[in-house]
Amino acid sequence: MPARLIDGRAHARAIREELKRAVERHPNQRPPGITVIQVGDDPASTTYVGGKHKAAEEVGFNSAIEHFHEITQSGLHQRIAKLANDPAIDGILLQMPLPDGLDPDQALEQIPPHKDVDGLHPYNAGRLAQGNPTFIPATPLGVLELLRREHIDPTGQRAVVVGRSRLVGRPVALLLLQNHATVTIVHSHTIDLPAITRTADILIAATGKRGLITGQHVKPGAVVIDVGTNPTEDGGLTGDVDAAAAEVAGALTPVPGGVGPVTTALLLEHTVRAAERAFDAR
Ligand code: NAP
Repeated sequence: MPARLIDGRAHARAIREELKRAVERHPNQRPPGITVIQVGDDPASTTYVGGKHKAAEEVGFNSAIEHFHEITQSGLHQRIAKLANDPAIDGILLQMPLPDGLDPDQALEQIPPHKDVDGLHPYNAGRLAQGNPTFIPATPLGVLELLRREHIDPTGQRAVVVGRSRLVGRPVALLLLQNHATVTIVHSHTIDLPAITRTADILIAATGKRGLITGQHVKPGAVVIDVGTNPTEDGGLTGDVDAAAAEVAGALTPVPGGVGPVTTALLLEHTVRAAERAFDAR
């Protein structure tokens, strides 16, 4: 029997509705302000940035895109400093990847941690590693939010995370650990990947390798969360999990329509939180 599909779009709609109500509850406050910085002309980044901007406008935010075809490292830092000091801006997002020649670590450190709604500043990443998180990167948090909204409790479950990037794999693993799963992280140097992934009750695929996870990687009935987004020949997107794996899994997130929409909705939620804190601090 094919896996039950987890509808990320429906969950994202529910989160956005909750957010709209949160924004409307404070009619005397200014709307939350978010700015996304894009450097370069990577088409996938342009799509993601446009999606975030549109979603932010839809829930009533003051949203802007700053797009630079080219910029120096110090020029980028100056732009971030300007937004950091702007009291109308609550969230600053720096779209990754940056073009060659720009250092993402240095740039991310310019974002004040309380405006780092993407949770990539070392302060926020460190808090997560300590088990005392502030802003958590939206994609890993989206994975946990999908599990929570699907009433899938990681407690005591065996979770395997395929991928160890700081954007997805590592923080997902930390969050699963914090939610009492028994967690294994695997990566491109792992020997006999299927033997390990087949032990998973909850399998997270976050590699960006189309079709890497096949039927032989999945334990029958497992929950499989496909974070991968890989471009297809017809201009669409597909995940890391192939069609045969979908026949073995018990539940699966589709790509598109799984983790992606929830990621965007959670970014907005973080920005509302940042705005509420800024307002309370006045
Ligand atoms: P990344 O930085 O390229 O990391 C990929 C990870 O996959 C690495 O840890 C790599 O291992 C591992 N890997 C690669 N090939 C493997 C193999 N054959 N076997 C086992 N592990 C392998 O990518 P990322 O930023 O984490 O993103 C992962 C995917 O998620 C991408 O498709 C990205 O587009 C997608 N994504 C989606 C969303 C969303 O909202 N849906 C958001 C962010 C990212 P090594 O460390 O050993 O190299």
